[in-house]
Amino acid sequence: MQIRLEGLRSEFYREIELIASLFFEEVKVTDSLEEQVQAVLQFQIETGNPVSVGVTLTDEKGEQKWHASHQRAIEASDEKSYRKRLKKVISYAVLQVLQQATGVIQPWGILTGVRPTKLLHTMLLNGKTIEEASGILAQDYLLQPHKIEILKEIVERQHAVLPDLYELDRKVSLYIGIPFCPTKCAYCTFPAYAIRGRNGSVEEFLAGLHEEIEAVGSWLKERNLPVTTIYYGGGTPTSISVEQMDALFTQMKRWIPFYDQVREITVEAGRPDTLDPEKLDLLKRWQIDRISINPQSFKEETLKLIGRHHTVKETLEKYQLAREMGIDNINMDLIIGLPNEGVAEFKQSLEVVERLRPESLTVHTLSFKRGSIMTQNKEKYRVAERDEVEEMVRLAREWTQANGYVPYYLYRQKNILGNQENVGYAFPGQESLYNIIIMEERQTIIGLGCGAVSKIVAPQTGKIKRWPNPKEPQAYINTYRQHITGKLQALDEVYGFEMPMSV
Ligand code: SF4
Repeated sequence: MQIRLEGLRSEFYREIELIASLFFEEVKVTDSLEEQVQAVLQFQIETGNPVSVGVTLTDEKGEQKWHASHQRAIEASDEKSYRKRLKKVISYAVLQVLQQATGVIQPWGILTGVRPTKLLHTMLLNGKTIEEASGILAQDYLLQPHKIEILKEIVERQHAVLPDLYELDRKVSLYIGIPFCPTKCAYCTFPAYAIRGRNGSVEEFLAGLHEEIEAVGSWLKERNLPVTTIYYGGGTPTSISVEQMDALFTQMKRWIPFYDQVREITVEAGRPDTLDPEKLDLLKRWQIDRISINPQSFKEETLKLIGRHHTVKETLEKYQLAREMGIDNINMDLIIGLPNEGVAEFKQSLEVVERLRPESLTVHTLSFKRGSIMTQNKEKYRVAERDEVEEMVRLAREWTQANGYVPYYLYRQKNILGNQENVGYAFPGQESLYNIIIMEERQTIIGLGCGAVSKIVAPQTGKIKRWPNPKEPQAYINTYRQHITGKLQALDEVYGFEMPMSV
């Protein structure tokens, strides 16, 4: 979909692209009169205070027109914050005109970012009451009431689970990225390489990771920084052998200070085909608090279609085995909108989950991520339409309510079906602290291993500095020492430490 913009400064083009992408696929905006376009957006903007934005949408043939306008008082201390608020007013008017033209009401209004709960937290931290913040989300951001409700519920739940959520900035959490999986799933863009593939040897990667653990652990010890949570993700960490896992946990216990005080340790065991009695026994012995066993769907044909390479039977057996071995906090992931799946198939999956009763259930909505096998071959996959996706999201909410789960974290992704969201539900008291911490960005997470992105949150300002480790095992093997040095320097700078480097 190509749209011509008239009467708008180019600094606002990105905003228009983001809003239009909620309605149409592959949106491009242009101001050229030479290019073929499917629609034209003409703007009339009167800056000042209040600001007034009018926008007219004309279809390809120039036969139909729609118009929306919006006026808003803008409180801004400087030019930059004025522009930021002006962008919102422009987005508001564009959303309204596109909603009129298409008849589609966007559940998340003008919000196009990943973390709507973070916005609500920020408003609360700035002194708004929950009612005032809800009013702003409805009026200024055009969120639908059911989305505001779930945000409120989540934020309240997060405060109950992590009462010190706003005071976690003098501690850190750790993410350990193990970039291997038995095979690559079709929708995946995580750093996940076939364990028997040719991208770097597992042993060499693990040797680098052990060194990184020692360096980061020493750094934490010298700076007296305790660890709140540890999360092993990837990839699928349980893809490596039981001996390699044992050595990894041993290394962590040896180097991470105050290890016994870590509040939660999670290991992603997403692919049931990576689990066996020895590994489950090891997880139990190492007192891992939570694991994930992810069915994604309980329909055999779907699993084949998305390249999961495990069967429904295997998921059920491994889940049963984990239970028998005493693992008492298991998360399961389901994905709404997998190819050839609609309400009936999703209901079937929920019925199975109802029998299993995992402690938490994360309900994703399929997103066509750039670079995934599925996106590259999009025409081969038939997925549910917007209305059906919405129905499944509603069903998930009702089903979880009826079965005793509460929502406790939420995030959104680009190109997510129906412009919906991913929601983590859990039985009260079984929520993952790490998931809350990573979503709300209230604490530094130091990423170790492949594809691990460190997010260093400045204690006073909350400003975030990112340090991404390489995604590919071979690149990690080649460069991990530089990354250790660079990352620890970045941490020292943000925290204002003036101590000698530990590596
Ligand atoms: S199991 Fe997870 S990380 Fe591995 S390929 Fe599938 S989606 Fe990606």
